[in-house]
Amino acid sequence: MDLKNSVMVCGFGVSGQAAARLAGYLGKYIVIVDENSTREMREQAAEVRRQYPGVKMDLYFSWKEEITLPRCELAVMSPGVRRGTPLFHAAERMTSRVASELEFALEHITCPIAAITGTNGKTTTTELTTAILRASAIRAESAGNIGHALSDCAIEVCERRVNYLVIEVSSFQIDTISKFPSHPAVILNIASDHIDRHGGMDAYAETKFRIFSGSLDAPPSARILHSGLLEYKKRFLPPGLPVTTFSATDHEADFTLENSIIRFHGREILPFAESALKGLHNAENIMAALALVRALLGEDAIFASCVRDAIRAFLPDAHRMEVFLEKNGIKYINDSKATNPHAVNAAVATFASGRNIILILGGLDKDMDFSELAPSLPHIRQAFLIGQCKEKIHEAIADKVKCKMSSSLESAVKDACSIAKPGDCVMLSPATASMDMFKNYAERGCRFKELVTALLTAAQQSS
Ligand code: ADP
Repeated sequence: MDLKNSVMVCGFGVSGQAAARLAGYLGKYIVIVDENSTREMREQAAEVRRQYPGVKMDLYFSWKEEITLPRCELAVMSPGVRRGTPLFHAAERMTSRVASELEFALEHITCPIAAITGTNGKTTTTELTTAILRASAIRAESAGNIGHALSDCAIEVCERRVNYLVIEVSSFQIDTISKFPSHPAVILNIASDHIDRHGGMDAYAETKFRIFSGSLDAPPSARILHSGLLEYKKRFLPPGLPVTTFSATDHEADFTLENSIIRFHGREILPFAESALKGLHNAENIMAALALVRALLGEDAIFASCVRDAIRAFLPDAHRMEVFLEKNGIKYINDSKATNPHAVNAAVATFASGRNIILILGGLDKDMDFSELAPSLPHIRQAFLIGQCKEKIHEAIADKVKCKMSSSLESAVKDACSIAKPGDCVMLSPATASMDMFKNYAERGCRFKELVTALLTAAQQSS
């Protein structure tokens, strides 16, 4: 077997399956390894075989340490296979190099790419950038962490169905890349999240900055940073390297929000109020998307009327500051996607008016620093704490905010709704992951909406 033409796919979940499809498309010898063996995995492997019948494939499902793997050129590592595990070691031993699914796919993509990373706002900015490019008559696709694996997009690009890609890149995906290829890229923000996995804030920030590692010689338009990250820049990029900055509060940045108007170097692009996105953080997401479009299409492009139209037409996804009900002057807000304190602060800042926020938070901790909730605390009338880390959150905020430990989301919703007055916001913005109590953030958000709606309907019927 030609070693050069072989790929070991380690971990056969969503991204591993996509990597196997790309390897099949490229005609490589594929070795699939997973410690589990589910029906879905077997079906997916059979599907790759069916699609690419000429390709040789060996399956190592239910893999154990004592089973020797064949030699391959490259190991494509799924995010679920952590460094230091027996499978990671075995893959390192039997291959010449290890790459993430993202890196593997990037090596086979020839079209222009915009890359987006940061603690919060990646999905919103990715989708908005794609929407703006599409409005500019470009066949663009969102890819990466957003659910559409980059390996599948690589096939679409090879087949000329897509000609620009906008990629949402998580820190896990950058982790195994030593040099990110040269593409326009943005870091939206860096705040405490996933610290359990990265082993500290500095390591987490360093990982995010690697998104610029291949574009140190590119023009400054290709390196886009929130101006609040310039201190990190001094540590992680060569001294004096020019970048493009954006900020809703710093008027020295390249993209700014001045007199409620989004501007580039002082020149008006559009009034922020014309967008359906709310909150200063979303003004920054718009600026980041515009900065990427400038890097890809040139400066004139961002002043085109089709760009403004695309921003005006763009609607945020569910579970992100979603005001799903307004009754008796009280807003009910589902912000289940807020899985770290920084996102909670953004939502609270958007809706705060005095101490009017009744907040439900808590869930699965990722070794996070809940003292980062400090800017929100003056606006919280009462916090209802749920989930695995409710004691830890209590410890971090109870001296500044009235807190109640709730035994379930249901009881938190009941108590939160019972104290709400006109002008208040009852908000689920948990600052944590959801998997201690729910399948994912979407299930948590839907459950919250159901509980609130049922409670208010029952109250209406009994009055
Ligand atoms: P990600 O893909 O990075 O998780 P999303 O766009 O899905 O980002 O938003 C996740 C959460 O973060 C939501 O609660 C949203 O309101 C909040 N958020 C979005 N953009 C920002 C930002 N620029 N700064 C802080 N919080 C943000």
